[in-house]
Amino acid sequence: MHDVIVIGGSFAGHSAAMQLARASKSVLLIDSGSPRNRFAEGVHGFLGQDGRPPRDIMMFASTELLAYPSAATLHAEVTSVVRMDKGFRLNLSNGDERQALRLVLATGVSDDLPPIPGLKERWGKTVLHCPYCHGYEVKGRALGVIANNPMSAHHAALISDWGPVTYFTQGPLDSDEATHALLAKRNVAIEQSPIIELFGTAPQLEAVRLDDGRKLAIDVLFTASRTRMSSPLAEQLGCAFEEGPTGPYIKVDLWGLTSVPHVYAAGDATTPMHNATLAAGSGVIAGVGAHQSLVFE
Ligand SMILES: Cc1cc2nc3c(=O)[nH]c(=O)nc-3n(C[C@H](O)[C@H](O)[C@H](O)COP(=O)(O)OP(=O)(O)OC[C@H]3O[C@@H](n4cnc5c(N)ncnc54)[C@H](O)[C@@H]3O)c2cc1C
Repeated sequence: MHDVIVIGGSFAGHSAAMQLARASKSVLLIDSGSPRNRFAEGVHGFLGQDGRPPRDIMMFASTELLAYPSAATLHAEVTSVVRMDKGFRLNLSNGDERQALRLVLATGVSDDLPPIPGLKERWGKTVLHCPYCHGYEVKGRALGVIANNPMSAHHAALISDWGPVTYFTQGPLDSDEATHALLAKRNVAIEQSPIIELFGTAPQLEAVRLDDGRKLAIDVLFTASRTRMSSPLAEQLGCAFEEGPTGPYIKVDLWGLTSVPHVYAAGDATTPMHNATLAAGSGVIAGVGAHQSLVFE
């Protein structure tokens, strides 16, 4: 029986496990190896690691974690969790099972892109969502923003700070006067004919074809994704959810405790604000929360 099992071994999970290891708790970090940003070549804006490949950061984090004798890691997927009289039993994809007194869910979210052929192949390279993560690298290029939620016009206005923007509304522009004025003030070009095709050898992007037959030179497209839980475990355990602008997230308190006793959660799965630093920060909170619940029970 471990003190704590952390499910998900990326920014949030490693940060949670580190706090527990440093409190000499027996902590097992289980990870299936599909972090959300695996499509990107580098992580930007993460203190001390700007531009470093995500895989390298995680390998370094695992080496640091395993320097603590009470910590262990395991490459596997947790397929189900069963609550026991005391603690939890986890069933793993390799047929094994593990038990722990506390759980930290750091399982992240996955992205669903608008249904335009060619977007998926370019995701994280020339199809992006976050200008703070990758905008600097594409500064001054021909940028496009694809509308897919009520905030898309504001996304387009914001992204014009990184280069000339065409806002693809994917249908008739349906916005108020203030939004029109904002787009005009930011020199955002508006195209209402939907994008139906992308050109260039993926992941490169050279142009887009519109439904009315025109072809426009575009180097990079930004679009918000719909997000969903990468794992059904929180739902299985009965955790309460909140609804965010891009998708649901697990409700947690100030210590990362979910609505289910002894189940903590951290990272993208617990907030509508998705960012590696924020995920690491919330991992620290959940790790400390889980530790203190063992002490003060
Ligand atoms: C393309 C792209 C680029 C990005 N670039 C940046 C950037 O430059 N800077 C920045 O700050 N943010 C960036 N982000 C956001 C950043 O990736 C996330 O905020 C961060 O990865 C969230 O960390 P996390 O630990 O919550 O989840 P994740 O990193 O998604 O990790 C979750 C982990 O849990 C594992 N897991 C899931 N279910 C199970 C299970 N049942 N059993 C075992 N393991 C499981 C997964 O395999 C995965 O390894 C980017 C996002 C995307 C999509």
